[in-house]
Amino acid sequence: MNDESIGRQGKLVVVAGPSGVGKSTVVRKAIELDPAVWLSVSATTRQPRPGEHDGVDYLFLTDEQFQALSDEHGFLESASFAGNRYGTPRESVAKYLEEGTDVLLEIDLQGVRQVRAAMPAATTVFIAPPSWEILRDRLTSRGTEDEASVARRLDAARRELAAQNEFDSVIINADVEQAAKQLLAWVSSTST
Ligand code: 5GP
Repeated sequence: MNDESIGRQGKLVVVAGPSGVGKSTVVRKAIELDPAVWLSVSATTRQPRPGEHDGVDYLFLTDEQFQALSDEHGFLESASFAGNRYGTPRESVAKYLEEGTDVLLEIDLQGVRQVRAAMPAATTVFIAPPSWEILRDRLTSRGTEDEASVARRLDAARRELAAQNEFDSVIINADVEQAAKQLLAWVSSTST
């Protein structure tokens, strides 16, 4: 361990934005471009989509398992979204930050508000679509959700878009690589 790394806490950067905006693609591109940044793996009670893997995309838990972890105060934040529960496991985030690693969370608006209250030093970044029409088309044509889930996600998207002024920064996802680079610029500009 060199002198520089002693005592340096990692930075916590929280990314949110409406469902369908492509934020997980942007975040994954960012960690591909800078593998030194760690992306937290959330827990969820939703069913895996085709191609998603347990422990990689999410920790896929039953309602009972999720509740047990919640009862143990195992979540830094948690929320219900479109009929399922989601949460950020507290322990791994704390461990990486203490080690001095910068950490990204990709969570919904309710979660951002909880993290902001608990950890005011966190930086918050909102990923916005180029237009409402593009977002609506992406959400309705994705084909991974049933009609009721799409309707709930469109509702949530309207609420999330209305809250973008709460964030430290807004990045428009017109091009994934550009958006990922802008996100990384925020991570490094807020690093100590
Ligand atoms: P999806 O089901 O499309 O993967 O995610 C639905 C929403 O839940 C997205 O807005 C996503 O950012 C959010 N989400 C994913 N993980 C978490 C988490 O750990 N906490 C919270 N609050 N939201 C999450």
